[in-house]
Amino acid sequence: MTRSPYDTRRSRTVLLVVGSLLLVGGAVIAYLGGRDFFAAANMESMDPQFGSFFTMAGGAFMVIFGIGMLNAGTLGAQSRYVAGETMPTVKKSAEYLSDGRGIMGVGRTVDDGAAAGTQRASGPFCRACGTRNDEDARFCDGCGASMA
Ligand SMILES: [Zn+2]
Repeated sequence: MTRSPYDTRRSRTVLLVVGSLLLVGGAVIAYLGGRDFFAAANMESMDPQFGSFFTMAGGAFMVIFGIGMLNAGTLGAQSRYVAGETMPTVKKSAEYLSDGRGIMGVGRTVDDGAAAGTQRASGPFCRACGTRNDEDARFCDGCGASMA
């Protein structure tokens, strides 16, 4: 319900629209200018046709700016996608591949100690199932038997 997401989305749309127009319009202008430039260079004198050349160069700059604006318009969405979709996937994949223990520390999480508590506990072994429990455990983490 905040205003910023809408404003950001609208400005991004403007960037995409204007960038697309610059890209297409610049391509047309560069093509026309380039065609005139090379046609004049071939058919007439060897004098450079600066007018046509600058038209072509201006069109090329418009294309470049259009590409830049398209990049700016999609950058936010891309970075959000990467942060929201790719990174958790990578993290989960690393955890899966490493069986939750991490590969060279990659994928290791703060919760590993709690998750692997039964293996890191320093207390007594359960007489029923052999799972090692915490010093103050009253019931076995593995089978639930009383540790008393
Ligand atoms: Zn047990």
